[in-house]
Amino acid sequence: MDALPQFELLRPRSLDEVIAARAAHPQSSLLGGGTDLVVNIRRGIVAPPVLIETNGVAALRAIKADERDLHIGAATTLAELAAAPEVERHYPVVAQAAAHVAGPTQRNMGTVGGNLCLDTRCIFYNQSEWWRSANNHCLKTTGTMCHVAPKSRGVCFATFSGDLAPALLALDAEIDVAGPAGRRTMPLADLYIGYARQDEPVTESNGDGKYFLSLQPGEFITAVHARNTPGLRSEYDKIRIRRSIEYPVTGVAVALRREGETLLDLRVAFTGTNPRPVRLAGTAALCGGPLDDRVFKGLDALVRDQIMAMKTTFTPGHYRRRVAGVLAGRLVQQLFEQG
Ligand SMILES: Cc1cc2nc3c(=O)[nH]c(=O)nc-3n(C[C@H](O)[C@H](O)[C@H](O)COP(=O)(O)OP(=O)(O)OC[C@H]3O[C@@H](n4cnc5c(N)ncnc54)[C@H](O)[C@@H]3O)c2cc1C
Ligand code: SF4
Repeated sequence: MDALPQFELLRPRSLDEVIAARAAHPQSSLLGGGTDLVVNIRRGIVAPPVLIETNGVAALRAIKADERDLHIGAATTLAELAAAPEVERHYPVVAQAAAHVAGPTQRNMGTVGGNLCLDTRCIFYNQSEWWRSANNHCLKTTGTMCHVAPKSRGVCFATFSGDLAPALLALDAEIDVAGPAGRRTMPLADLYIGYARQDEPVTESNGDGKYFLSLQPGEFITAVHARNTPGLRSEYDKIRIRRSIEYPVTGVAVALRREGETLLDLRVAFTGTNPRPVRLAGTAALCGGPLDDRVFKGLDALVRDQIMAMKTTFTPGHYRRRVAGVLAGRLVQQLFEQG
């Protein structure tokens, strides 16, 4: 690890102060727990001259959860979220995903906003400066080619690995965003633009592993919220190489509703596979009948179609896609049979 470079640390106490600080320092980065950002600064991957800490803003730290709504401030820590009894009771998939992030140290520091905006990862990117320079860097930083897909024509495939996003996508969550241009609310799904289409240029709405968030300059997340759907059962699980302190090989969130023997609603979302968390499209067509072979085969086909198999981690891409499908099927079965 290299020594940390110089930077200025700002500690605003209100939302307005954060907005003003962002506007005054366009090159700044928001600092949640710093469990990813500081690692990247130390590796010389990024060097923001100003860090704006969100932890001191009380308005960003609230959790409200009941049988109707879920509201989580962006500076809430993952440990607080995982331990909130009403979240566990009404939105188990969210509490479980928070509890699956890294280890206790990172969860005590890491925030919801930082997890949702976690930088994408790749074996050629999350390395020291000397390692990356020995490989002539790559597209995500200052290089000219992608080592994962040398013919990618400018597209980066670095993988989004945050555990919370799929859980919240399965609940159709929305985020509140603030910035110099004002405040707005949008679907969480619209935050993620890392489509990485190999034959299409990267644009404002069609990004890749480098341009994977739709936030405008100076914008940041203030909260995430979701409505409860009566009868919705939900669960999160992930496959990782070690059983603790480890990013997901793949993480899967499933939410479903059942009436008698009929599958009424099925939502499946993944992390650790593509440059964005993926809410699987096409699951509605699998509903309306019993949970039979047709559903599992259909689910497998959707996973094969939408989940990428790029070699951005030490785990082979095809293995990742395979376990994504297996884990999704297992969770669907478990939830359907839940008493
Ligand atoms: C050993 C280790 C293992 C890990 N394992 C996992 C894992 O299994 N799963 C996982 O999900 N993560 C993992 N992480 C990454 C990290 O700890 C978590 O994702 C954590 O939630 C990041 O939150 P943070 O507040 O520390 O983010 P920070 O490092 O503070 O910020 C991350 C990024 O988000 C931006 N940001 C912060 N807050 C906001 C906001 N409100 N609005 C917009 N942008 C914002 C920052 O500017 C930065 O770009 C691991 C990290 C380590 C060191
Ligand atoms: S996918 Fe390619 S461009 Fe992106 S970080 Fe990895 S090597 Fe670099």
